[in-house]
Amino acid sequence: MRLDSYFYPMQVEIISIGDELLIGQTINTNASWLGSELSLGGVSVRKCTVIADVKDHITAAIDSAMKSFPLVIMTGGLGPTKDDITKDVLCSYFDTELVENEQVLERIKDYFEKRGRPMLESNNLQASLPEKCTVLFNNYGTASGMWFEKNGSILVSLPGVPYEMKGIFLEEVFPRLKERFSLNGIYHITVMTQGIGESFLAEKIGAWEDKIRAEGFGLAYLPSPGSVRLRLSSDQGERNKDKIQAYMEELVALIPSYAYSIGEVSLSEVVGGLLRKQKLTVGTVESCTGGKLSGEIISVPGSSDYFLGGLVTYSNDMKSSLVDVPVEILNEQGAVSKEVVKLMAENGRSKLNTDICISVSGISGPEGGSDDKPVGTVWIGISTSEVCDAYHFTFGGNRERNIQISVLTALNLLRCKLLGVEIENK
Ligand code: ATP
Ligand code: MG
Repeated sequence: MRLDSYFYPMQVEIISIGDELLIGQTINTNASWLGSELSLGGVSVRKCTVIADVKDHITAAIDSAMKSFPLVIMTGGLGPTKDDITKDVLCSYFDTELVENEQVLERIKDYFEKRGRPMLESNNLQASLPEKCTVLFNNYGTASGMWFEKNGSILVSLPGVPYEMKGIFLEEVFPRLKERFSLNGIYHITVMTQGIGESFLAEKIGAWEDKIRAEGFGLAYLPSPGSVRLRLSSDQGERNKDKIQAYMEELVALIPSYAYSIGEVSLSEVVGGLLRKQKLTVGTVESCTGGKLSGEIISVPGSSDYFLGGLVTYSNDMKSSLVDVPVEILNEQGAVSKEVVKLMAENGRSKLNTDICISVSGISGPEGGSDDKPVGTVWIGISTSEVCDAYHFTFGGNRERNIQISVLTALNLLRCKLLGVEIENK
């Protein structure tokens, strides 16, 4: 993956505190959310650290981060429970002590009154905050955020509860950062692609990429199974919006069989939009994807406008009895073959009474591969009123990925068919 992090002048380390993060009980969504917000806002996240609720570790992590970065954002360990020791550690590090903050105490009292709940002594303690910090009010809970400065670096400490952390960050932290560092914000546009790997893609769009980089834009390749997102960014906020849009249109025109949208849209939404516009209906006959293709199509609200139904013909018997694939053909060619997917699509189209039918048959693995047809071999058929075509793919060795990639590939083939885009089938 290529990152366009060279853009950002302002750098930050995120420190996540909590034993539950280390033992895998809680996923560190705070770090990923902050990572996304900060980088969109024009701050480069250079390091994420996860540490236990242990005094020495917290002190060491703070010290190292404050010496390396102008900004450190910490989450967790601020609650009323005994294991939350962050505040004491912060007091020692910043050489200050806890003092009761009247305003915060009032807010906490109010918080409990409004909810009709009694206030505990431990909640009282949450109004005790380090004297040397700027208090960041929490409109969503009782643990305040804190902003410290030392030797030219800033440290912000936020509660661990995700919605409290988000609230304080958006209301109290980011506006301060924006003003203090005149952040422009990063403007991104993403082009979604399917059916081509990162390196092939880089080769195909090399000249275009050189051109946009020379203009000072950044490009990131963000791969996931079966697709790659291309994210173009500018550190000039929205100033270059029109130019970026035009570059993205150029990119899509370079790779029409792979690029399926400008903006983060799913393939099933794109395909759904095309079917609706062209007033066409679709059905599926699935073997190796076991219904997941239908599942993906109907994940889009309103898909009943164009999706009529699907058949899951997992066994050979079902392929014969439900979509009339002759037993002889199954025996001669095998269930994973051009002839079989074409019959599945063609006969499925008439059984389901749709304008288009897509069929999928493949060897997902881990068992069932042979020299001729290794695990990952997939055939996809598409039948329309005019043609019935079949496409052959060899994906990989992982069952789950093969299924997922088969679904995306089938949808992309359908998209190309609907747009009359020539399919590059390697
Ligand atoms: P509280 O007032 O609830 O004690 P806190 O600041 O002490 O807040 P923690 O005790 O660390 O925060 O965590 C509180 C809750 O937030 C827990 O349910 C925890 O799993 C969740 N949480 C903490 N850190 C993270 C994180 N990095 N990502 C996602 N969830 C988190
Ligand atoms: Mg806690």
